[in-house]
Amino acid sequence: MTAYPYEVHEYDVVVVGAGGAGLRATLGMAEQGLRTACVTKVFPTRSHTVAAQGGIAASLSNMGPDHWQWHMYDTVKGSDWLGDTDAMEYLAREAPKAVYELEHYGVPFSRTEEGKIYQRPFGGHTTEFGEGPPVQRTCAAADRTGHAILHTLYGQSLRHNAEFYIEYFALDLLITDGRCTGVVCWKLDDGTIHVFNAKMVVLATGGYGRAYFSATSAHTCTGDGGGMVARAGLPLQDMEFVQFHPTGIYGSGCLITEGARGEGGYLTNSEGERFMERYAPTYKDLASRDVVSRCITIEIREGRGVGEHKDHMHLNLSHIPPETLHERLPGISESARIFAGVDLTKEPIPILPTVHYNMGGIPTNYWGEVLNPTPENPDRIFPGLMAVGEAGCASVHGANRLGSNSLIDLVVFGRAAAIRAGEIVDPKARNHPVDKAGIDKALDRFDHFRNASGAVPTADLRLEMQKTMQADAAVFRTDKTLAEGVKKMEKVAAKMDDLKVTDRSLIWNSDLMETLELANLMPNALATIVAAEARKESRGAHAHEDYPDRDDKTWRKHSLAWVDGDKVRLAYRPVHLEPLTKEENGGIDLKKIAPKKRVY
Ligand SMILES: Cc1cc2nc3c(=O)[nH]c(=O)nc-3n(C[C@H](O)[C@H](O)[C@H](O)COP(=O)(O)OP(=O)(O)OC[C@H]3O[C@@H](n4cnc5c(N)ncnc54)[C@H](O)[C@@H]3O)c2cc1C
Repeated sequence: MTAYPYEVHEYDVVVVGAGGAGLRATLGMAEQGLRTACVTKVFPTRSHTVAAQGGIAASLSNMGPDHWQWHMYDTVKGSDWLGDTDAMEYLAREAPKAVYELEHYGVPFSRTEEGKIYQRPFGGHTTEFGEGPPVQRTCAAADRTGHAILHTLYGQSLRHNAEFYIEYFALDLLITDGRCTGVVCWKLDDGTIHVFNAKMVVLATGGYGRAYFSATSAHTCTGDGGGMVARAGLPLQDMEFVQFHPTGIYGSGCLITEGARGEGGYLTNSEGERFMERYAPTYKDLASRDVVSRCITIEIREGRGVGEHKDHMHLNLSHIPPETLHERLPGISESARIFAGVDLTKEPIPILPTVHYNMGGIPTNYWGEVLNPTPENPDRIFPGLMAVGEAGCASVHGANRLGSNSLIDLVVFGRAAAIRAGEIVDPKARNHPVDKAGIDKALDRFDHFRNASGAVPTADLRLEMQKTMQADAAVFRTDKTLAEGVKKMEKVAAKMDDLKVTDRSLIWNSDLMETLELANLMPNALATIVAAEARKESRGAHAHEDYPDRDDKTWRKHSLAWVDGDKVRLAYRPVHLEPLTKEENGGIDLKKIAPKKRVY
């Protein structure tokens, strides 16, 4: 029996997370009259989505010809042929609808002269199935698109009577008879425990960028959903694919949006050379992110880095008229000044590839339903549980995500989850009761960390993990570094048993909260490095020096990782190759999206 009293709340749906994905799901559920709670550890509009600058991709054709089929092709190619075809089709096809919905909900998009939604070019987004010039597909609200989306969705959710539980930390899922029945939470400001019992739990907890030392993501991006899922005995998918954004500000890791290159910015090395012209003759600085990050890393390794230590590159924007910078990129002018001490109308910004996005996550189908695959049934659904946004893996980004394809993923799949829940959740039915043993287990674990009295402070172990991941699971990977990295990470993970928590209080205890977050980061990090070590090919963000080519025959498959303590078990599931609609029905020509060499 647990010593912690708790209060039980009953809902049709509980959404964990109030970023773009969580809020879009919450709004969609509430709009249909489902009794919906949204639980979030930070105030909704402080979720990492608020930091998204560049924009949201949809083939609106406001700036020139575009088609959803072209968007789909670019997404397939961007994914390096690892994405699921049905999910990628759903994303590209539903994207315009989802953006117009945002417009009608009130997102203040930037406008063209005629008053249409303004769209800018972004890396990897092209026309004519990659044969034509770059396309302007990325809809933007200046360089504060995520901010605008979050504020709008939060307001709309309140309007539809969704109930928010703000600054509640979700500890663990409740699993009863093979289905998810709820989630146990700790209320941060008064220390009380709350059990949410629901017919459907939606994880929208975001990425785990903070498993690395240098990341563009917020300190709250700790993969809590992945941690909870791993503890429930469910797998994580494609964790080896971690996106490095080419332009994090050197030193701080703060992001300079790809929109900066979209608006005409370009990279140079120590010789003042626009080196991307050599690597990607057609799309140059707007090649996809994994390609640009790798090229920067090669330039640095070959001695052409800038600065005293020749360890970074320059991003030039000073040739762009100051009015354009002011109108289109006001936020990054400020970031460059604060974080690099640079006036970007006069000088280049020092930049370095920085961890930015997790392609992997909790496996789902394109309705957001979580999968619990078996060899016989790789698409088996785990009832009562959904995952959307960066926490999930539908999989539309495969081995590499295109810029501006995440914000659209949040709203398309947040919306899809709500549509699906509307079909399968019966508000008149009674909830599956919660399992007392499950609650006790979650609270015993909570109590264990609260009283942890080992030798290693949380901050020290976190730093060791972050440094190890940065050194051995970053842009360049070899058999040797990965094998060493796996060994080191197993040792790091084993130290979770020797943690020291000094603050025993239940109220505003950041020591305990950071410990719980570390306990969530750890399985994500372990799965990442173990799956990376196992994958003997190069694909998207997973560039392996000993296996420089993509190997579709052996490796065009999703990895699955079950994490138990410091041990990881791997298996694989096939990539979905079938689209939702064939060409003859207005869908996609499979020949057009067949695998080929990925050049930009
Ligand atoms: C600096 C930056 C710029 C970006 N720019 C773009 C861009 O221009 N275009 C684009 O498409 N993508 C961009 N991305 C990527 C994109 O913004 C993210 O992938 C996306 O915002 C993730 O949204 P999300 O809703 O999944 O999670 P988040 O926005 O990270 O929200 C996670 C939510 O989960 C909650 N949560 C987490 N754990 C718990 C827990 N244990 N208990 C309770 N609540 C919890 C948090 O409180 C939060 O509300 C950018 C990313 C970064 C870091």
